[in-house]
Amino acid sequence: MKASRLAALIAASWLAASALAPAHAEQPVPAKQLFGAVKAPAKLPPAPVGFYAKGCLAGGIQLPNDGTYWQSMRLSRNRHWGHPRLIAFLETFAQDAHDKVGWPGLLVGDMSQPRGGPMLTGHASHQIGLDADIWLDPAPNHRLTAEERETLSATSVIASRSEINPNIWSEDHARLIKLAASYSQVQRIFVHPAIKKALCDWAGRDRAWLNKVRPMYGHNYHFHVRLRCPEGSTTCKDQAPPPPGDGCDESLAWWLSDKPYAPPDKKHPPKPPKPVLLADLPKSCAAVLTAP
Ligand SMILES: [Zn+2]
Repeated sequence: MKASRLAALIAASWLAASALAPAHAEQPVPAKQLFGAVKAPAKLPPAPVGFYAKGCLAGGIQLPNDGTYWQSMRLSRNRHWGHPRLIAFLETFAQDAHDKVGWPGLLVGDMSQPRGGPMLTGHASHQIGLDADIWLDPAPNHRLTAEERETLSATSVIASRSEINPNIWSEDHARLIKLAASYSQVQRIFVHPAIKKALCDWAGRDRAWLNKVRPMYGHNYHFHVRLRCPEGSTTCKDQAPPPPGDGCDESLAWWLSDKPYAPPDKKHPPKPPKPVLLADLPKSCAAVLTAP
């Protein structure tokens, strides 16, 4: 998208969001279209701005497509951007996973867009450069071509809503997720409820790390690592810590029941969510969007 076109879209979205907007104002442009159109990072000091699910990223860094022990997937999406903390974490985690777990290499899925923000498809979060999806498949023993990185299918480790597939799931998966949870900078890890159950059964007496590992549907093929806000950040909004305990309790039982998957009440259908506008994000996200 041309810079002038982008500026016009931003102006239109501010005008329409303001109380002074004339009644015939153009429909405001959803923020995901603005952030989804930008191909390069904002040349600003690195900073996560706002919350994981409502914010943007200044000074984003791109994870190299290849490291000794990782390979980035789906390069065409241009979603391997993050805060320098996230890049450093992935480098460390990939090396440790190899050295301590024997994991041959990480396949790195979506991180953030060059300037973070909402995405056109998928993900409510991943907006401030501190979230990364890691495939549950180990890297193959060769460098994937760009074509393979687009087309290779991820393998589900899930057999049903409450059970992992024992033919795919291995103790190395459990050790990999436990390792990810061991870093102080990791705030939460999201896994499929059946994986959380498998980890609860596997953990034995060392259970403190399970606190960070939270069940969430939609994680059949990957797990999601979320880092804390960098200390001293004035722009990053931290998430409340998970409730105390290992989480292998009634909250997990709820996830393993049919309740999370219940069809919506037909008499009181939920309102369709309003598109998030630039004006809904922290104010400085407008500067992040327009920075050189
Ligand atoms: Zn994710």
